[in-house]
Amino acid sequence: MTKIVGLTGGIGSGKTTVARLFEALGVPIYIADEEAKTLMQNSEMIQRELIQLLGESCYVDGQLNRSFIASKVFNDKSLLHQINAIVHPKVAAHFERWLTKQHAPYVIKEVAILFETKSQNKFDFILTVTAPTETRIQRVINRDQKTKKDIESIIDNQLPESQKMSQSDFVIHNNSLLETEINIQNIHKEILNKIKNS
Ligand code: ATP
Repeated sequence: MTKIVGLTGGIGSGKTTVARLFEALGVPIYIADEEAKTLMQNSEMIQRELIQLLGESCYVDGQLNRSFIASKVFNDKSLLHQINAIVHPKVAAHFERWLTKQHAPYVIKEVAILFETKSQNKFDFILTVTAPTETRIQRVINRDQKTKKDIESIIDNQLPESQKMSQSDFVIHNNSLLETEINIQNIHKEILNKIKNS
């Protein structure tokens, strides 16, 4: 049976970059946040439930109104939980259907909040990507329209990197891309070996 490697790490650590490098080695990857966005856009059931929760403004001309939703959940954790309760089970079901179509020895599922949602037991192996906080902040500033303060407050709400690393089978310190690529090749071989010998 196909094994599942959970890929996680804090904001801007390089999860998606790492996932894409595994993909280049032939590993099927599932980026949960991207799939959630696609499902929020396309699933009629999610659309209905989000409109029930937040009102018609969730969608404008059939397009998900991200800024409206972001403004609603800003400082309202309970609303965020309610949205997650609508979206997460559908993403989980979508992942299970996707998984049945994969034939590789293992797949990678990128989940930003893997430890925060206590999902460790859903994975055969866990891989955490990490990088120094200042590096992560700078990478996100370069990539998004976010301020240093925004990013710091997201970091403060995430589990400390040390706790993620101590609960992981593999850790990638994503500093130089070249070193990360070499680490990925080694980890890929190690995972294949572990699967072969299990
Ligand atoms: P998020 O949690 O915000 O989704 P992430 O952990 O998936 O982020 P990425 O999107 O992979 O992180 O990387 C964040 C930014 O840093 C991207 O613009 C990416 O191109 C860049 N980046 C990632 N790794 C490196 C690296 N080793 N060297 C330089 N830039 C990098």
